[in-house]
Amino acid sequence: MSASERIATWGAPAATVVDPVGGTLAGATGRYEKRLADLQGVFADADAYARLLAEDPDRLHYFVEDFRREERAGDLIFGTSVLLPGKVGREFHMTRGHVHQLEDRTEIYHCLSGHGILLMERGGEVEAIELTPGTIAYVAGGWLHRSVNVGADQLVTLFCYPADSGQDYSPIERAGGMARLVVESADGGWELVENPRYTGPAA
Ligand code: MN
Repeated sequence: MSASERIATWGAPAATVVDPVGGTLAGATGRYEKRLADLQGVFADADAYARLLAEDPDRLHYFVEDFRREERAGDLIFGTSVLLPGKVGREFHMTRGHVHQLEDRTEIYHCLSGHGILLMERGGEVEAIELTPGTIAYVAGGWLHRSVNVGADQLVTLFCYPADSGQDYSPIERAGGMARLVVESADGGWELVENPRYTGPAA
């Protein structure tokens, strides 16, 4: 099959429309949700997690709506990530976090509304980019990444990454989380603190 024949099978252009505050993506091809019960072991404060789980295991933490046409090299996947506000113990709500299976695959996150942190890590090195509306954060290849909501409202980001990237959640699980936690500070803001469960660089 020639290159032009391959491209022809990718189909027609498409438009999607994002709600920058609600976070929904009209025209999305998929959606998934993560609730409190799906996030076992993610938060450092196991007692706080257990208490919240007993109260409301279905508490919605985040959802993702995305547009996927092909999962092959050269195509793009894009969509919205919507992270609800709140904390588990002192730790702010966050996504599970992952690294791309193909190590050189990159990503951007464009903050549409809310206030968050894009927490990244590679080989024990840590980067935290503050997300406010308009920020476009670039995730270099090989970096673990997760988003954290440190604000009072939903954190809505638009992401885009190569369609063949793949997502590997296991390095963060194996290392007892990421090296730093994003927690509420004494003045009501946010700060990074050492993760007491962290067992060493995972990626
Ligand atoms: Mn990613």
